[in-house]
Amino acid sequence: MSGRPEILFPLFSAVETLQGVGPKTAQNFTQMAIETPRDLLFSLPYSVVDRRLRTTLNGVDFPGVVTVEVTIGEHRPARNRGGAYRIHVTDAETDFQLVFFHGRSRYLEAQVPEGARRVVSGKVELFDGLAQMVHPDYMVPLVEASEIPGFEPVYNLTQGITQKTMFKSVRSTLTRVPELEEWIDPAQLAKENWQEWHQSILSAHNPSGLDDLDAQSPSRARLAYDELFAHQLTLALARQMERKTRGISSRGNGILQAPVLAALPYKPTSAQSLAIAEISADLEADRRMNRLLQGDVGSGKTLVAFMGLLVVVEAGGQGVMMAPTEILARQHLEGLRPLAEDAGVVLELLTGRDKGAERRAKLAALKRGDIHILVGTHAVFQQDVEFNDLRLAIVDEQHRFGVRQRMELAEKGRGADVLVMTATPIPRSLALAQYGDMDVSVLDEKPPGRKPIKTAVISTERMDEVISHLRHAIAEGRQCYWVCPLVEESEVMDLTAAEERFKRLRAVLGEGVVGLVHGQMPSKDKDSAMAAFQSGETSVLVATTVIEVGVNVPNASIMVIERAEIFGLAQLHQLRGRVGRGSAESTCLLMYQAPLKEGGRKRLEVLRETEDGFVISETDLQMRGAGDMIGTAQSGLPRFQIADLERQAGLMAVAQSDARALLAIDPGLESPRGRAARVLLWLMRQDQAIRLISVG
Ligand code: ADP
Ligand code: MG
Repeated sequence: MSGRPEILFPLFSAVETLQGVGPKTAQNFTQMAIETPRDLLFSLPYSVVDRRLRTTLNGVDFPGVVTVEVTIGEHRPARNRGGAYRIHVTDAETDFQLVFFHGRSRYLEAQVPEGARRVVSGKVELFDGLAQMVHPDYMVPLVEASEIPGFEPVYNLTQGITQKTMFKSVRSTLTRVPELEEWIDPAQLAKENWQEWHQSILSAHNPSGLDDLDAQSPSRARLAYDELFAHQLTLALARQMERKTRGISSRGNGILQAPVLAALPYKPTSAQSLAIAEISADLEADRRMNRLLQGDVGSGKTLVAFMGLLVVVEAGGQGVMMAPTEILARQHLEGLRPLAEDAGVVLELLTGRDKGAERRAKLAALKRGDIHILVGTHAVFQQDVEFNDLRLAIVDEQHRFGVRQRMELAEKGRGADVLVMTATPIPRSLALAQYGDMDVSVLDEKPPGRKPIKTAVISTERMDEVISHLRHAIAEGRQCYWVCPLVEESEVMDLTAAEERFKRLRAVLGEGVVGLVHGQMPSKDKDSAMAAFQSGETSVLVATTVIEVGVNVPNASIMVIERAEIFGLAQLHQLRGRVGRGSAESTCLLMYQAPLKEGGRKRLEVLRETEDGFVISETDLQMRGAGDMIGTAQSGLPRFQIADLERQAGLMAVAQSDARALLAIDPGLESPRGRAARVLLWLMRQDQAIRLISVG
């Protein structure tokens, strides 16, 4: 399919081709991202005005829109400039006034001469006990009364686009809406009682009451489904494409896993075991794995990843694990090395810091296959990093990893299996939208014995109290993170805040007890600050949000977050997740600067009430909306125009399985339904999918 199907041409022409739309209106439309009649079609009304004809004003609640047949009475032109021009009118039972500001007699006398019969429609208000309709929306002879829609859809507008323009342009578009072959599974269509697309789009623009504007109304639900289905079809095509690339089959024999499991001071949770099994099965299959491992902070993703890496090493291959920051990469190395040693596995670290001879030696060892597992930052994917036999690439803690980046990563690893790990619990609907092309393993269980984290919300005014408590806690051998606020988008401001806090705490708690770590520090200093905290040499670690992701110091049991009210929910949840990892009772103090605004108060309350990452992320989604939650641009998450991710999660799941099912029986979209689905992809501007079909 080389180009857009002809049947869609009328919808993709310029808006100027619509009746009554000139270059100026077209220009104004672009402010609303409306460039073609198609775009108008998908701008659905958000409200509706009842303009059904009544016999009289009597019985109407004012103010309200009324449509009524009247006899025009006496004209009373304005007495002074800017005054009101009034026209007395009578309906079947009562009388009222039409009011015009700047009304010109000549015009009005021609339009509505005394004695004429007219149908008028507009908002009626009581003014000094007198009913009046100011600037009627409609004022037409009886023969034209049918021009007034019984229910008038109300659209979003922009500068230079009036309700009338919008209405007329949409009407003109509706006359050219083609009838399209059905792309929805007939069973789904029947089950939901949906109408065909053509009818649904007409109904959506012809609401006959507020009920029709509800997302659950059949026409809207169907159109929302179309949107979700098109998106899921795109993801399913990407997934199919990836699966076509032959993968490597790596079958483990347990010879490395067994000693590691035996050496662990704990047993894997059943969620971990299940994820390990799913990953092992994927590794063994000879198609490429493309899997997401989702697990809340502290759910033990690292062990799962490591078991996967051991499988490929057992099979004679190599693995790589990429972390977003140097601190994390180092921490993985330190956590995994003792385990690796138990099994005789060679683990090495590669970051941007490796230079010169040392780096060359590492690369050579990697190429020879002498390094089994490489851990590092994005440096592990530099051009000259070559593996002997790379079979598994793991990306840790990537919050913002879109479909495109995943495909790039898979390309670098040639046939290597890909596992993406994320600690950001995201609501199911978002997960499906963002990761619909992947298979998903979920760690929905925390390791046993974790104690709940006591979370308290405290005003900064009580800083002295907090510090004095902290002194006692430290004396008992506890450790504390102290996170300083992201005052502005500027690193410099962050730094001053962190450095000042560091000085103050050091002055109170003593030299050598307090460490400092922030993003701008030289890597060496960062490492030693982390190491000192990890080993218990320092008791307090003052930090900017560099510690947000992944840092693991089980003995740390106190988390203080300053100006918590300006952090996002997900971020606070991640930060708090740094404590509560050991056996000790943990505390999280969320300090705010009064007065608290509504949003900030609500966020802190949610955190105080629950530790469940999924509950927190659902709340976040409700408070912020989907687009905002995962930076849309980076995530590849589309902005849906009709579908409501917050409320239509169920439809998203159906769309995913339907899209996958369609491709399973018709991978090339050649069947009648497949061809119809191609038209949908064009209609929904799914360029990426269209490219995938044309190369596939
Ligand atoms: P995350 O999912 O946030 O990456 P980690 O992998 O860092 O979590 O694990 C958090 C902590 O839990 C680590 O200290 C780890 O050793 C420990 N842990 C992992 N799995 C278990 C388990 N099954 N039982 C007890 N502790 C575990
Ligand atoms: Mg982790």
